Amino acid sequence: MEIIQYGDKKITYKIQKKKIKNLYIQIKNGEVIVKAPNKMKEKNIQEIVQKKAKWLKETLEKEQQKPKEEPITPQKLENLKSTVQMAIKKYANYLKVYPNKIRIKDIKYAWGSCSSNRNITINAKLANKSKEAIEYVVLHELCHLKEMNHSTKFWNLVEYCMSDYKIYRKELR
Ligand SMILES: [Zn+2]
Repeated sequence: MEIIQYGDKKITYKIQKKKIKNLYIQIKNGEVIVKAPNKMKEKNIQEIVQKKAKWLKETLEKEQQKPKEEPITPQKLENLKSTVQMAIKKYANYLKVYPNKIRIKDIKYAWGSCSSNRNITINAKLANKSKEAIEYVVLHELCHLKEMNHSTKFWNLVEYCMSDYKIYRKELR
């Protein structure tokens, strides 16, 4: 572990020598990893890292401020499953839409998705959200079985089924 100083802040970093041409710096889970070419001297590495000190300090601070993701316990996942089931029952009958498959999966970029072959995927991370927010996501995806877009017609349909959906949608930002 190496250390550089920036103002009153000490920044520690780990060097990984690699068969690469240029040095690059990575921040992962609050840890600074410097990937450096095999032949580069420690002194040169330190010089480069020192030049990036301001950026490192700011980036590390920003990362600390980010709220940590809560772990999803098996119990929470069970609750999510039953809430999803319940919401499907409630809204599928109401809308007269019938999804093909419903999956709960850890997905990255959305809370839910709906494919053209009527498969609905619900993000497992919803396990940490309120029951109402989960219901909203299920409803949102079910509405896509009728409207495959985010048109006014789509949002009217969502609102028709859940008049206060905007509150729960906010929770998911
Ligand atoms: Zn959508």
